[in-house]
Amino acid sequence: MPIFRFAPSPTGALHLGNGYSALYAFDRARQMDGSFLLRVEDIDQGRCRPEHEAAMLADLAWLGLTWEQPVRRQSEHMDDYAAALAKLSDAGLTYPCFCTRKDIAREIAAAPSAPHGPDGALYPGICRSLSLTERRDRVAAGAAFAVRLDCARAARMIAGDLSWYDRQSGQQYLQPGLHGDVVLARKETPTSYHLAVTVDDALQGVSHVTRGADLFAATHVHRLLQALLDLPTPEYDHHRLLQDDDGVRMAKRHGAVSLAQLRDEGRDPGELRRSLGFEF
Ligand code: GLU
Repeated sequence: MPIFRFAPSPTGALHLGNGYSALYAFDRARQMDGSFLLRVEDIDQGRCRPEHEAAMLADLAWLGLTWEQPVRRQSEHMDDYAAALAKLSDAGLTYPCFCTRKDIAREIAAAPSAPHGPDGALYPGICRSLSLTERRDRVAAGAAFAVRLDCARAARMIAGDLSWYDRQSGQQYLQPGLHGDVVLARKETPTSYHLAVTVDDALQGVSHVTRGADLFAATHVHRLLQALLDLPTPEYDHHRLLQDDDGVRMAKRHGAVSLAQLRDEGRDPGELRRSLGFEF
């Protein structure tokens, strides 16, 4: 049975673009007689709030969505991410990185050329070449560190071309180095978005990942992690992003209209769904 999900982070009010994304997943599940899961992506405990989560669920129910129980809350499953991270570390595919943002910026500014990825300059690999003793000493001295994926090593571990299918853009081929040595965990947050989302989609049996086109490039990281952790690859569907009246992509930080606002204004949810192109 097809399994779809919507996976918001409770860092603020859901805006209309989030509503579109939720409806998109729900509607495709409905059309394919599949199930629809809701996953609360709350690993960033500094920014996520229980009151945002409660408001989010109320907004989605108002939109006409129903979902399977129980809802998976990432903060309750840190052991699953730790196990996946240990598997990667045991395979020699990770290293501790002690760099501050400043260290990284300084190194990039001083380099004659800095390779870039979809999200800007790639991590220049300062800590990749530290000796084992140096790593051990710094950790023992209590230095804060992040755990990074050694993407060049990871690329050597995987066999052949890896691909995935995106419903909008067709067959895609993995570029293992596209995002460089991504962060997989931090001291204060023992997993990253990339690791948690990959593990959860597999553990929840998600067969179809629908999400906004802004996460298209992130799928390179997820596909790589699936190969390294021996996890299945879902079908992807990176849908268009809604824009506000000024043609700017809707985002919390740009003050996009929230679902709560629309509800308070007395907007009819059925009419709102239809105006977004959904027929239920
Ligand atoms: N939690 C992510 C977000 O709110 C979405 C993750 C995903 O759909 O893969 O942007």
